[in-house]
Amino acid sequence: LAGRLAGTGTTIFAEMSELATRTGAINLGQGFPDTDGPAEVMEAAVRALREGRGNQYPPGAGVPELRQAVARHQRRWYGLDVDPDREVLVTAGATEAIAAALLALVEPGDEVVALEPYYDSYTAGIAMAGGVRVGVPLRAPDFRLDVAALRAAVGPRTRLILLNSPHNPTGTVLTREELAEVARIAVERDLLVLTDEVYEHLTYGVPHLPLATFPGMAERTLTVSSAGKTFSFTGWKVGWVHGPAELVAAVRTAKQFLTYVSGGPLQYAVAEALDGQDDWVRGLAAELRGRRDLLVDGLRRAGFEVYVPDGTYFVTADASPLGFRDGRELCRRLPELCGVVAIPSVVFHERQGPDAPSAPLIRFAFCKRPEELRAAASRLARLAPSGS
Ligand code: PMP
Ligand code: GLN
Repeated sequence: LAGRLAGTGTTIFAEMSELATRTGAINLGQGFPDTDGPAEVMEAAVRALREGRGNQYPPGAGVPELRQAVARHQRRWYGLDVDPDREVLVTAGATEAIAAALLALVEPGDEVVALEPYYDSYTAGIAMAGGVRVGVPLRAPDFRLDVAALRAAVGPRTRLILLNSPHNPTGTVLTREELAEVARIAVERDLLVLTDEVYEHLTYGVPHLPLATFPGMAERTLTVSSAGKTFSFTGWKVGWVHGPAELVAAVRTAKQFLTYVSGGPLQYAVAEALDGQDDWVRGLAAELRGRRDLLVDGLRRAGFEVYVPDGTYFVTADASPLGFRDGRELCRRLPELCGVVAIPSVVFHERQGPDAPSAPLIRFAFCKRPEELRAAASRLARLAPSGS
């Protein structure tokens, strides 16, 4: 393994999903819904396949129908003006958009400022680009942005800020005030921002505000999203990035030689979904809010201390009240203890030892059917010390 990937093992999501498959445990680890997205959108994909749309290499930037639908979506939901021909690039999921952007924009030794805990592909993407990660902690119990820490993290070698809101794994949704501070810092220091907004539609009672809508930001922001989370098709791996034409062209330069293109027929289906499924998407968010509450309640009854998220698929729980200090160890044993799989939050942190501050924290996914969540909650109740 090349030095720049030293320390990059198997992604925790693969490891934990494999553990769930092997043990037959309920998988609240890797974040994927157990119910597929709209049937009409699947039909649209089948139609595209049958009609021979996208069965051969689609255009490098993505099919025009999807780029236009992304532009319409950004206008309709956020009032953003996006040129579908020059300012949108379709990618193999958000993951490729992020990796290609980092490879295209970061010189070896450049610093990338990112919110800690970090979604795991950021760490690997920055490493592949030869960049240096500089963390800005979102600290328990409320996981808010520490604006002073952000300001202090930015220095002469900072190339870009990598933002993520709604944030995986904490579920934090940055507020208007927090985003305005990020924007102010980016403008003052003349920085680019890569913002991962894959959970843009999955917020519970708080608004998602795209960073690109803040003053001075449209010209320095690359915004990433994906059909995986918005339409519950995580296996399709259709994502996109939009931003200023010259930045998108740079990302495209890298993307050409990662995958060139992908998902031809699915791109047509996602275009239809973006245009026609706003009500379904609102319904999904309402549904997920109820599922969040169900799992939060179950985890509390099982004895965890729970941090209630405003967005995403994920809830963070502290296992210390149950007598567990090491979440990594607990997650390994969870299938045998109670038949559930979850993700130790410590893997998303700089410090990963058993005495790291995040060691007792565990991330549970609630993008599952209510009966699964109820079953998981009653299994987790077995962790409670007997008699309590
Ligand atoms: N960013 C975040 C914050 C995520 O949680 C995920 C997981 N789906 C991704 C990016 C990757 O998205 P995709 O599957 O579209 O590559
Ligand atoms: N984003 C999903 C999660 O955080 C996992 C995606 C993946 O496995 N790469 O659980």
